[in-house]
Amino acid sequence: MKVPPADNILQLSHEIGHVYHYSCLNKEAAINSNCSLATMEATAIFTENFLQRRMLEICSPKEKLNMLSGILMRYVKLNACAWLEI
Ligand SMILES: [Zn+2]
Repeated sequence: MKVPPADNILQLSHEIGHVYHYSCLNKEAAINSNCSLATMEATAIFTENFLQRRMLEICSPKEKLNMLSGILMRYVKLNACAWLEI
């Protein structure tokens, strides 16, 4: 079995955070379910960071270096997109 790259697993954990957030909103009245993008991303980023920390604890030094490189590139890309508004 081929193990998926860490980026795919982290993206999946991010999306699971969104699913959890939306599942919580389903229990709320419509007036309470409208929230900002920052609030929506908070849960997703929390689950992503939670998994990221756990993965860094258990991986080998070489895997850790690759993961940290991927994390750095992802944040650079996210910030560049926000800065350039693309
Ligand atoms: Zn998101």
